[in-house]
Amino acid sequence: MATCQACVLTCMDFRIQGTVSQWLHEKGLAGKYDYLSLPGASRNFIEEGKLNLVEDSYRLHHIAEVYLIHHEDCGAYNLGDLPVAKQLDRQRQDMEIAARILKERYPELKVYLAFLYLDGHIVEFSVA
Ligand SMILES: [Zn+2]
Repeated sequence: MATCQACVLTCMDFRIQGTVSQWLHEKGLAGKYDYLSLPGASRNFIEEGKLNLVEDSYRLHHIAEVYLIHHEDCGAYNLGDLPVAKQLDRQRQDMEIAARILKERYPELKVYLAFLYLDGHIVEFSVA
């Protein structure tokens, strides 16, 4: 039986879709993830109903992992005038908040945080 290993929450921005897909394939996740592509990824995690969607994935498909993937020059953040390091710092706060909420409710879930640069490289962080 096919199993769903992960839920991926990333931004809807068309510029990042190919890179995200390729990165997930390189992790061996091809065909094994639910995919949520919404403005700002985990920004306003509860307020915009994103937690509920990840919970749907957990309940329906019994995922073991969640990937939160943000990116440079995200329109939902409108921080494009700031150096990318500052954009990352700001968005990382929201990723950490979302990760904490998930870990509180589902301690067995592994949560991974990643930030995509528009040149195509992706950095990963562990949850603080
Ligand atoms: Zn975006």
